[in-house]
Amino acid sequence: MNSSIFPKVIVNWINGQEVPSDNSRLFANLNPHNAEVLCQVSLSTSNAVDAAITSAQQAQAEWSNIPAVRRGQILYDVCNVMHAQRNLIGQIVALETGKSLKAALGETDGAIALGRFFAGEGQRLHGRTLQSDVPHKTGMTIREPVGIAGLIVPANTPIANIAWKVFPALICGNAAILKASEDAPGTAWIFGKIVQETGLPPGVLNILQGMGVDVGEPLVKHPQVGVISFTGSTQVGRRIATIAGERLAKISLELGGKNPLIVCDDADLENALRWSILSAFSNAGQRCASASRIIVFDSIYERFEKMLVDATAKLRLGIDDNDNLGPVINEKQLKNMLMWIDKARSQGARIVTGGKRVESENLGNGYYMSPTILDNVSSDDEISHQELFGPITILYRVHNYEDALKLANNSKYGLTACIHTNNIHRALHFTKNIQAGLAIVNGGTFGSEPHMPFGGIKNSGNGTREPGIEALDVYSEIKAVYLNILPELAH
Ligand code: NAD
Repeated sequence: MNSSIFPKVIVNWINGQEVPSDNSRLFANLNPHNAEVLCQVSLSTSNAVDAAITSAQQAQAEWSNIPAVRRGQILYDVCNVMHAQRNLIGQIVALETGKSLKAALGETDGAIALGRFFAGEGQRLHGRTLQSDVPHKTGMTIREPVGIAGLIVPANTPIANIAWKVFPALICGNAAILKASEDAPGTAWIFGKIVQETGLPPGVLNILQGMGVDVGEPLVKHPQVGVISFTGSTQVGRRIATIAGERLAKISLELGGKNPLIVCDDADLENALRWSILSAFSNAGQRCASASRIIVFDSIYERFEKMLVDATAKLRLGIDDNDNLGPVINEKQLKNMLMWIDKARSQGARIVTGGKRVESENLGNGYYMSPTILDNVSSDDEISHQELFGPITILYRVHNYEDALKLANNSKYGLTACIHTNNIHRALHFTKNIQAGLAIVNGGTFGSEPHMPFGGIKNSGNGTREPGIEALDVYSEIKAVYLNILPELAH
């Protein structure tokens, strides 16, 4: 893999064309593995948002008049070209996120599968038919596009994040403006290129590069943007909700998590270990659904802690396919994690393993954080409530299931949660009583499928769900229709 697959300068996609920002200012896209510059990127302003709105407005009416089945065929073509170019997409994802090519290709395949699912939804886009209290009257609902969708994404799984929003937005007949992550501009750029080459009408998808405050915020503020779908931190989500709330725009927020994974005394410990390691450390812990709180029963605590520490010591860091985790996305993120670890240490936490930047000769220039386990932390401590978005997990000791459930629910977040147990009663009780949008038994805290809804409660979201058919509700308006039959004219 080498950086020549990136253009020298990545600019915006507006109305099917590559358009630089009007101020010609640029920022560098860095490879998190070694801090080398991959390419330069347009630092766009609200002028680019205005241009994208004009383009999207012009394209949307015609796009929504194309029957949904045909829109689906066009999106299916996009997926086919993505499949043909999966290696290129995977390489771009790998280089700008610091994950292995194998992981990046897995993510690309997931994005294609999701695209195909939503392309197929063009054959359905169900409304409902309902009964009426009034004779000779029929009720039904139909779906209509919202208009222009503003889509804002983070960098952690960039091609998947883009697919999760673009495919459902477009199948519903909207035009879309995607604000790329400043940490993964190349993934958005190649997606835009594929989409234009496939024959999506110009202006149906516009892609803007730049910073959140310069581009994301004007997009959220713009009165022509009917629906905003945001995936990112709770802090930014709250700001977006405030701005969008002022003008009563529709919003979907997929936010942070501090996800618990409970290991009960009756669990298959090898299985629990495997999923704990993957949930805490894969993708360098940069998952909204990572297991950042591992809650273990007293009676097996020492044994499981040793298993976890031994397995963590064996993890290989780097970007090769057989490495287990790569760097975090940028230096700011790394420094933030180190700051929180110092703070936790000063408040009494014990660093069981890790807790440092990796300084080795081959990884020292990159943003590598050693996989970290903390203990001696109370569930009320600050670190128990702070999402760190890196390879850091906290171990908690509990007496029994009731204490585990109470600790798991003691969080402002409620995204995903997992329990490891062989007791069906415990498992079912957990799925019913855990405060989370996703409850998993004997698996990981992450892992979602295109046809299943994903999203959180409490500070992890605002109640919407993407993807699954639930995403169609985010990107369409429901219209109620009444039909009155006049019996005297019926014959
Ligand atoms: P972030 O909130 O800093 O940024 C996300 C996106 O929002 C970026 O494109 C950024 O440019 C943009 N942005 C920043 N400020 C903005 C503003 N004022 N107005 C509009 N847009 C703005 O998040 P991040 O650090 O890039 O990503 C990590 C976060 O994303 C974590 O909290 C993680 O849990 C969350 N996340 C959630 C999910 C989910 O499905 N729930 C999935 C992945 C990541």
